[in-house]
Amino acid sequence: MITIKNYVSVDTVEEAYDLNKKRNNQVLGGMCWLKMMNKDVNTAIDLSKLNVKSIDEDETCFRIGAYVTLRELEMSTSFNEYTNGGMKKAVEHIVGVQFRNCATIGGSIWGRFGFSDLLTFFLSLDAKVELYPTGIVSLKEFRDMKVNNDILLSVIVDKKPLKVAYQTIRNQSTDFPVLACACSNVDGKYNTAIGARPGKAMLVEDDNNILAEVNEETIKAYSEYVMNRVDTISDSRASGEYRKRMVKVLVSRCMKEMEGI
Ligand SMILES: Cc1cc2nc3c(=O)[nH]c(=O)nc-3n(C[C@H](O)[C@H](O)[C@H](O)COP(=O)(O)OP(=O)(O)OC[C@H]3O[C@@H](n4cnc5c(N)ncnc54)[C@H](O)[C@@H]3O)c2cc1C
Repeated sequence: MITIKNYVSVDTVEEAYDLNKKRNNQVLGGMCWLKMMNKDVNTAIDLSKLNVKSIDEDETCFRIGAYVTLRELEMSTSFNEYTNGGMKKAVEHIVGVQFRNCATIGGSIWGRFGFSDLLTFFLSLDAKVELYPTGIVSLKEFRDMKVNNDILLSVIVDKKPLKVAYQTIRNQSTDFPVLACACSNVDGKYNTAIGARPGKAMLVEDDNNILAEVNEETIKAYSEYVMNRVDTISDSRASGEYRKRMVKVLVSRCMKEMEGI
């Protein structure tokens, strides 16, 4: 059980950061994960008063505030248009609507969970995160950063020509994924993010230009290429060997969906 002594709804991000420096204090997201922990929190830090609750869009990018819920992402017409419906597909199996109405993108990305559909999907979009005080860093860099006291303010997706497709394998429809796969073409470059390996999502780029021409044969070669570059291990949900084989299957499905083949 989690117990919280004090609650502060901060007025500034500086205040949030100062509070977060203390060991027993904790930034709140939607609390879906936090509430399952055994923890004594001294001060819970609520970011609601900061500008973190909306999906803002201009000509150059989408800025998704840390407190935007998974349900809001699922229902966002503009972001789903931009991602060919991929955003919806990436979150629709996460527990249920009520849960997705609470869980936030900030908590999901901050957690850098191995099973994360969000980390997998946003890695393939070449997204960035806005941190205080560190500044803006690529999600790829953030994934490998040591956990610190930064406050995650937003996830930024630059508007570039984009194609993306998302697929997972789950033992049961709302369970954690056994494997997650997002294939994308961002500004002419193909890449694939594989998550739930069960480790943190990793990114494989088409460095050898296998997809210079896209057809059934090159998709098969690319799927094998990705499979051979991804490390998978066993856990209670599936064996590493099964996951590895499924990498090839999911990459092939995503690529075909994305390219309409
Ligand atoms: C039963 C269950 C099933 C789930 N299944 C899936 C699944 O299938 N796929 C999937 O992708 N995810 C899944 N999740 C994870 C879920 O979608 C959320 O990612 C998770 O609950 C965290 O989001 P939250 O908003 O609840 O964050 P919280 O639980 O509030 O916070 C999580 C962590 O992030 C920190 N934090 C939150 N916001 C910020 C911020 N802005 N800046 C700095 N630190 C911050 C908190 O201090 C805490 O350490 C599941 C979770 C549960 C409990």
